[in-house]
Amino acid sequence: MQTSYEVRTYSNYIGGKWVDTKGGTIEGKNPASGELVTKAAKSTADDVAFAVEEARKAFDSGAWSSKRPSERAKFLRDISELIRRDIDGLTLLLTLENGKPLADAKGELLNAANVLEYYASAARHIVGRVPRYSGTDISLVVHEPVGVCGLIVPWNSPISLLSWKLGPALAAGCTVVIKPSSHTSGITMELVKLISTIEGLPAGVVNAVTGPGDSAGAELVKSAKVDKVSFTGSTETGKRVMEMASVNLKKINLECGGKSANIIFDDANTEAALRGAIWSIFRSAGQSCNAGSRLLVQETIYGPFMRRYLQAASAIKVGNGADPATEMGPIISEGQLKRVLGYIQSGVEEGARLSLGGRRLIDGDYAKGFFVQPTVFEEVERSMKIFREEIFGPVLCVLPFRDEEDAISIANDTNFGLAGDIWSKSLTRIMKVAQGTRTGTLWVNRHLNPGPEVPFGGYKQSGLGRETGMEGLMEFLQTKHISLQLNEPSERVRR
Ligand code: NAD
Repeated sequence: MQTSYEVRTYSNYIGGKWVDTKGGTIEGKNPASGELVTKAAKSTADDVAFAVEEARKAFDSGAWSSKRPSERAKFLRDISELIRRDIDGLTLLLTLENGKPLADAKGELLNAANVLEYYASAARHIVGRVPRYSGTDISLVVHEPVGVCGLIVPWNSPISLLSWKLGPALAAGCTVVIKPSSHTSGITMELVKLISTIEGLPAGVVNAVTGPGDSAGAELVKSAKVDKVSFTGSTETGKRVMEMASVNLKKINLECGGKSANIIFDDANTEAALRGAIWSIFRSAGQSCNAGSRLLVQETIYGPFMRRYLQAASAIKVGNGADPATEMGPIISEGQLKRVLGYIQSGVEEGARLSLGGRRLIDGDYAKGFFVQPTVFEEVERSMKIFREEIFGPVLCVLPFRDEEDAISIANDTNFGLAGDIWSKSLTRIMKVAQGTRTGTLWVNRHLNPGPEVPFGGYKQSGLGRETGMEGLMEFLQTKHISLQLNEPSERVRR
């Protein structure tokens, strides 16, 4: 098991060159061991302004947007191939910086490669329409790139979530400034390094700056030279981004938090539902936007199902993500660890029953990292903080429900609306709940079925707009109507 790494240092990538900052450095540490993994630029306002300027020049020159779609497609395919070529090194770095198990890290990188390939094809399918709405005029409805885009990405799936933005932005003909989370600057800049080796990319099309969100990230959002910000992160930060983006009414995409319901009916395939309900929350230690953090079990099977659930959850192997036997890794940082433990305490104080876990792991090597036991609360009331707020940790709330109406009512009793799961063999039940639930994605009889062909995004305070699919591409395109009168105006029009 390789758990350490020669510390790498990264500069910003601006206008086709690696550029040092005067702002100092930020550190990426392994959350499983506290070891230093990477150092990156703590970008200043000037660094961000420079990156935006270069992206602006590249966009305004038309050097990228005027390329043939097939050329933009080739570039996206090249990035995808480089990820596949270097998959082993990238996987290790992602695990060391983020803490997730190696298999999950590899899966994420392959997902990113797949997404970029999809947008390589999509680049060649940007089509307008020619509606006929007047006798003599011809109307052209065409799509054009939005312009300079700020791509702000969180740490929990830093490369796949970046690909959801970078793929459609470049396919559309936009230029970009990437701003990763400080926890995962290294893996992001490693990808940018690969991109920088591809021949034929005009300088300034892809730029990347690292640094804290409230300085580097905010500068990007506030810049009047940025036409669009595509943001993934917490709902709280998303609201701030929305406010700051009003400076020039820039377009925004917000992919924010979730509190997804996992609904298990008494006719479900119990084995599959059990597996799905375990991994929907404990995969990535609950640090997934679509985590099934509220488990709803029909009252007719509640007792036997929960006995098996608690048995299976207590057997999850928690450890260093670099150990191939690990099933659940650490929490990303000390700050987030405190936050998660605070929620567990509030659950106990508000009277929920702690049925499993609830503690930080501190024996032996665990003490060096930020590990929390898989935690399950039962007898949860809808008014409790653990039911209402996104915890972003391995903490599950379980509630029984009576029937379809009751399940829909509990599932919808939230400010979020990102995803959800339904487990049943009855199509009638499935469709009733699927149609009644206000959420952007529903998986039926499986948890997670990611694919770049389908859209992802949130209802309510889970976000604004969609990523992936052709819907995700449209977010990086403007729509223009050109009305053509090519004949002499008719008598009636002349008057
Ligand atoms: P975060 O909101 O703290 O940070 C996200 C990104 O925004 C980071 O790059 C950060 O540096 C930057 N940022 C922070 N403050 C900023 C500011 N004032 N201005 C501009 N940028 C700023 O979120 P996080 O802790 O990195 O990620 C976890 C959150 O992301 C969770 O809430 C999770 O649900 C959400 N998420 C959503 C999706 C989705 O697709 N809906 C996917 C993954 C994660």
